[in-house]
Amino acid sequence: MRTEEARPVRLEDYRPPDWLVETVELDVSLDPTATRVRATLALKPNGNGAAPAPLVLDGDALTLAALTLDGAPLPSEQYVATPGRLTIAQPPQRPFRLTIETVVDPSANTQLSGLYRSGAIYCTQCEAEGFRRITYFPDRPDVMAVYTTRIEAEKDAAPVLLANGNLVDSGDVPGTSRHFAVWHDPFPKPSYLFALVGGTLACVEDRFRTMSGRDVTLRIYVERGKEARCAHAMDSLKRAMRWDETVFGREYDLDIFMIVAVSDFNMGAMENKGLNIFNDKYVLASPETATDVDFDRIEAIIAHEYFHNWTGNRITCRDWFQLCLKEGLTVFRDQEFSADERSRAVERIGDVRGLRAHQFVEDAGPLAHPVRPRLYHEINNFYTATVYEKGAEVVRMIKTLLGPESFRKGMDLYFARHDGQAATIEQFVQCFADVSGRDLGQFMLWYSQAGTPEIVATGNYDARGRTYRLDVAQTVPATPGQPSKEPMVIPLAIGLVGRDGRDLPLELADGRAIERGVLALTKPAESFVFRDVGEPPVPSLNRGFSAPIKLVANISADDLRFLAARDSDAFNRWQAVQTLATRLLLDNTAALRAGRQARKDAGLIDALGAVLADGALEPAFMALMLTLPGEADIAREIGRDVDPDAIFAARAALRSAVGEALAGPLFDHYRRLSESAPYSPDAASAGRRALRNACLDLLAATRRADAVALAARQYRSADNMTDRMAALSTLSFIDAPERSAALDDFYARYADDPLIVDKWFSLQAAIPEPATLDRVKALTAHSAFSFSNPNRVRALIHAFALSNQKEFNRADGAGYDFVVDTVLALDPKNPQVAARLLSSLKSWRVLEPARRALAEKALQRVAAASSLSPDTADIVQRALAK
Ligand SMILES: [Zn+2]
Repeated sequence: MRTEEARPVRLEDYRPPDWLVETVELDVSLDPTATRVRATLALKPNGNGAAPAPLVLDGDALTLAALTLDGAPLPSEQYVATPGRLTIAQPPQRPFRLTIETVVDPSANTQLSGLYRSGAIYCTQCEAEGFRRITYFPDRPDVMAVYTTRIEAEKDAAPVLLANGNLVDSGDVPGTSRHFAVWHDPFPKPSYLFALVGGTLACVEDRFRTMSGRDVTLRIYVERGKEARCAHAMDSLKRAMRWDETVFGREYDLDIFMIVAVSDFNMGAMENKGLNIFNDKYVLASPETATDVDFDRIEAIIAHEYFHNWTGNRITCRDWFQLCLKEGLTVFRDQEFSADERSRAVERIGDVRGLRAHQFVEDAGPLAHPVRPRLYHEINNFYTATVYEKGAEVVRMIKTLLGPESFRKGMDLYFARHDGQAATIEQFVQCFADVSGRDLGQFMLWYSQAGTPEIVATGNYDARGRTYRLDVAQTVPATPGQPSKEPMVIPLAIGLVGRDGRDLPLELADGRAIERGVLALTKPAESFVFRDVGEPPVPSLNRGFSAPIKLVANISADDLRFLAARDSDAFNRWQAVQTLATRLLLDNTAALRAGRQARKDAGLIDALGAVLADGALEPAFMALMLTLPGEADIAREIGRDVDPDAIFAARAALRSAVGEALAGPLFDHYRRLSESAPYSPDAASAGRRALRNACLDLLAATRRADAVALAARQYRSADNMTDRMAALSTLSFIDAPERSAALDDFYARYADDPLIVDKWFSLQAAIPEPATLDRVKALTAHSAFSFSNPNRVRALIHAFALSNQKEFNRADGAGYDFVVDTVLALDPKNPQVAARLLSSLKSWRVLEPARRALAEKALQRVAAASSLSPDTADIVQRALAK
């Protein structure tokens, strides 16, 4: 367990480090239980720091073995070493070299932070504060040093030895069965970007020629036998490298770029300089083992980690409060990459669905926090949807407000001005203010105010004056610690759509100019009057989801259907259908709870029918149009007194009604889209599969025998994982003999592949029926399941808590009890995974009173536990705070 520190940490308490580290020489002698780490730090007093200052180095569960200063052992009365800190009260106030020897036990490291073992492989994870679990160090991102790493290990146990930078030496250790490798990284970096790997790994190699003509070696290291499943990751990497050169002018800087895939990993992947370490789930893919969604995600995550080389590594964060500086910006960059590589509209809809499902929910609950928090107890708990996804939206809004040319100029200035530095959000935004001449002061509220802004828009047409008036009011709801809010800058992209589907010219009566169709809202309430509007228009608001807001507008169902069919903005075509469906689902959820009949809506069915009849639409987009809002989406819209059973029933009834009413065209599309060509993961082929499987799913929602038989047939005959999984997922919702046969067959086919067995776990955890909880509990005893592997825990238990709203929120509270029991069991071993699982209870306050009481009781059971990790203690305290 880590020792408790003087938390919380506050942004306003930031001060520069007293000591800087110029170089770090690490000598790591790998051993399964006693790895010796000798770190030699070239330290110097920081001119900006307070002098004369003691030297205080961070540690976490460390044991000091030896300590020398400029080569001479330091007398024990001159320092204090505890597991959590090494203090030299009166160090010389001049540059000196400190050599620290520690011994760590990678096999006992179940937290997967610091140096640990994934199977037989040694690997590291240092973000955010894992380096201090390897050696004593000023473990903060604004201490940037040049690292040289020597690794030594038994030749047969760890034939591959990797660290950051370029390989400068390697060989045998004479007279022993050991060998060594020396890596040097010439770019100064913070300790969180340090990495090393040792083990038996196979390697796939390729090359990339950069825009200035340098050749870079690309290597992906995986478990032996999995080399063939790296092709997509390698292809994604090369496309990402080229894209970053073309779109941002950023070139790779070392001679080699390496990716290592490991199976025990707390996160998705980590951007360590030159040596990215990945959860193998986000590297390995083949048509037989991965779905289109997996292929898509691998491409995005490979790109994301690569893009960090400039946004995160070359320019890093001054402190962890600036986490969104690297994460929000890099998510924005990977979203843009995916949009350019695939369909921009489909990518945007997918990103917004994710934002609403995770970030909007977070923003509306007890764990809400600003994109840049001002305070944290445990930084590991701030790797959140708000920092990542809302952080990306904030960067996108800068681009929307400034336009693409100014945005690129601002990015160029940022790279030129801050390369090699640990920067702040203020410095980032200042670059855009400087290139555009705009005052972005009010815009900074996006970084400091939590909560999703709510916009109410009311439009009125004046036929006599040929004007259209749009009144807009904005509010930002109260969030923990922020009872009142200032109005924000909201870039609202709009169009006024004429009866022929074309956009009418946008001219404001007061002569103000509108750039690129974007209104910049800045006040609590404001009005815009458009002149020379010759016909009553249909307003299309927040086009492309130009701002991450909740929008309420007085647009009739007829106008929504019109927008669904005719809007030139693809995102708003999708949004129009979503809004129609959401209105109906809210009404029907309320009706079912009150014991009334659900209402039917021919208009929605007509709109979906029109989608199926529109031959001009790309299949991936049609599939999204046919996907009704999820149960969590409906719960979020209801916002209070939520009854998950009523939501489930309303949604199931609507899906069945759609499948019934549109059976003809759904069957037609299903048949038309049958592929005879071999599987290809490209976006167009994936889109056809997505539409075909969406049709199948709606048909099967009716429970009609021919549709169930079709799903069973697709399951059996599929030649790729996408179609097989889609059929199995459809079948899993139907309590029929076909389901158990297919589930048994799936396990039998893939029993020896943990990543595919994970899919099998997740699918069963998501079945919306009362027996599921017992099934999930039983699966925790399955031979393929392990509480020590985060992927298995996520596949089974997170999946239950996050994708099974009905059974997780069982009326008897047994779902909460199960999750809380798991959290308490996991917490001593892996606090990060435990804390993340506990955050699945973040929406407990919106539940109807009986469930709310049960969820609160479960949370209080965690709060009362005798020894909690800082990670889990932080989540439970915030979740329960009044
Ligand atoms: Zn990242």
